[in-house]
Amino acid sequence: MLDEKRRRALIEDVAKAVIDHAEELTALDSAIGDGDHGANMKRGFEAVLTDLDAISGKPLPDALKAAGMQLVMKVGGASGPLYGTLFMTLGKTLPADADRAAFAAAFKAAIDAVKARGKSDVGQKTMLDVLVPVQEAIASDIAVSDVVQRAHEAAEATVPMLATRGRASFLGERSIGHMDPGARSSALIVEAAAAALATEA
Ligand code: ADP
Ligand code: MG
Repeated sequence: MLDEKRRRALIEDVAKAVIDHAEELTALDSAIGDGDHGANMKRGFEAVLTDLDAISGKPLPDALKAAGMQLVMKVGGASGPLYGTLFMTLGKTLPADADRAAFAAAFKAAIDAVKARGKSDVGQKTMLDVLVPVQEAIASDIAVSDVVQRAHEAAEATVPMLATRGRASFLGERSIGHMDPGARSSALIVEAAAAALATEA
């Protein structure tokens, strides 16, 4: 189980990875959306950092719930409620002493909650096109570094997709040829979380 120091590093590293890539996320969202994904995510994860002492002082399931609540309140847009749902459901479902299999199961429940909330599924050029293959990779026994590679490949694979959910779907065929911003932010979160977790205590 993660002690407070490692929980803090995990939450902080994920938040910083998103904040550091805000401009890139905004550029992606400018191509096929309204150009606010970077600012939205930055605002949300800055709120998580502001609350870092309180959040990382909680056991991991409660810390995830608290971070999810900040994201719902602060990110806004379509992605705020969806990322908020993801982290809150993960926190609600994750047992305190989760092994990899329990984490995979909780992550699956969290993704199902996002699908229900977004009325969306894989193949529609959204964050789900990264989250779903990542969950499948975690549920298998592939190495964590390969899970991260799978996340980046999955984000890359949204480039040729036609968006049928979210703001990008308003563009129809013109959504083709650009990476989905939410897919990119999901891959960044997966990469940062995996790196933090790989730093064994
Ligand atoms: P908005 O689209 O309201 O401006 P953001 O720009 O912050 O919100 O987030 C856009 C991202 O949210 C998209 O790139 C996509 O990955 C994700 N998204 C939007 N709608 C959905 C949905 N219904 N299901 C899953 N993900 C979605
Ligand atoms: Mg947007």
